[in-house]
Amino acid sequence: MAETVVTPRIRGFICTTAHPAGCAKNVERQAEIARAARPSGVPDRYRVLVIGASTGYGLAGRIAATMLYRAETLGIFFERNGDATKTGSPGYYNTAAFDALAKAEGVPAHHINGDAFSTEIKNAAIAHIRETMGQVDVVIYSLASPRRTDPVTGEVYSSVLKPIGEPYIGKSIELTREEIIPVEIAPATPEEVEGSVRVMGGDDLKLWTEALLEAGVLAKRACIVPLSYIGPEVTYPIYRSGTIGKAKEHIEGVTRELDALLQAEIGGRALISVNKAVVTQASAAIPTIPLYFSVLTDILQAKGLEEEPIHQMVRLFTEHIGPGQSPTLDAEGRIRLDDHEMAPDVQAEVVRRWPLLTTETLPELGNFEDYKRGFRQLFGFEVDDVDYDAPVEVIAALEV
Ligand code: NAD
Repeated sequence: MAETVVTPRIRGFICTTAHPAGCAKNVERQAEIARAARPSGVPDRYRVLVIGASTGYGLAGRIAATMLYRAETLGIFFERNGDATKTGSPGYYNTAAFDALAKAEGVPAHHINGDAFSTEIKNAAIAHIRETMGQVDVVIYSLASPRRTDPVTGEVYSSVLKPIGEPYIGKSIELTREEIIPVEIAPATPEEVEGSVRVMGGDDLKLWTEALLEAGVLAKRACIVPLSYIGPEVTYPIYRSGTIGKAKEHIEGVTRELDALLQAEIGGRALISVNKAVVTQASAAIPTIPLYFSVLTDILQAKGLEEEPIHQMVRLFTEHIGPGQSPTLDAEGRIRLDDHEMAPDVQAEVVRRWPLLTTETLPELGNFEDYKRGFRQLFGFEVDDVDYDAPVEVIAALEV
């Protein structure tokens, strides 16, 4: 027992506390959204592996699969429970809440907490699938990490968020003072580009896919879906043409190779899903993205087109990869869930507003209030119907 009143401790794009009851409410709300979209016939058995399952898109994918199709899931993540001295990570509380919801649905949820980049965790996942699920029908690959240890060489790679070639001169928002500031970021060194590709590119996806295939734990016609992002021209220098964009190009190339392999071996697919910009712990760390997101949200909300990760992942299953669906692909063979974000009228409005953005004009040209709230909600704060004055148990009952 470790009951305490939990308050947010935020510095920039980091919050060092998390509220278990707020995290649980977030998960319940996402579950309701997915349940409301449940199709009439659900398959007899549907089994989904989610790598990076505790926050952001992976968590939403896991919730969507279970609430849409009563899917049995195995979630892999890197999180920590609370103890007598500090709160746990949001992903741990999210997983505890998801576990309870899955139990209430009467479907098994399995969890592995550890480094998904390691051979040990891959082997543990394969052993677990063999023993409990037999095989999996879908794999969602949704890792976001600043570091990766190569399991073969032991080399530790770091990913950076920098432009390539030219310095990035643009604007960003200083998250603590809430001021729009000019930013200048020096271009990455070749080693930094290489490190970013080794962490966020397709090396690990390839290792996972080959290991799962070789172990025979991918069902016939199984589908593997890694996530990517493209985004607008205003973020190109820091995103798509920068170090993270190089990594995304790499994983997209690897996915095309794996697609050919899976088609030949099991009649399966490996397909990139390009998702929209959303507030997650990973995206908060990228310069310019929170500012861009505030403007984008304001525009999409006015059109009634704003989506959270759960809406995107419900669409991924119900329109593209779920039972009975066939994916619609772009010219590069990718699923596009960023269609509303990238619509020409939406982007034209982003381009119109961007040069006009200052600290003073932000309340009119963007919705930074929603960004801030969304960021706090990632940690379980500012969630409706949570009594933040009441002490809460910070050690989650779930043990993984
Ligand atoms: P996130 O930070 O919310 O989630 C990352 C997940 O990875 C967590 O579950 C975390 O526990 C897990 N993880 C990290 N390192 C791990 C490790 N070593 N071992 C096991 N688990 C580990 O991130 P997100 O924003 O949901 O990003 C997921 C994917 O979606 C990324 O590929 C990202 O590029 C992509 N994407 C994100 C956005 C966006 O706007 N956030 C948009 C499009 C695509």
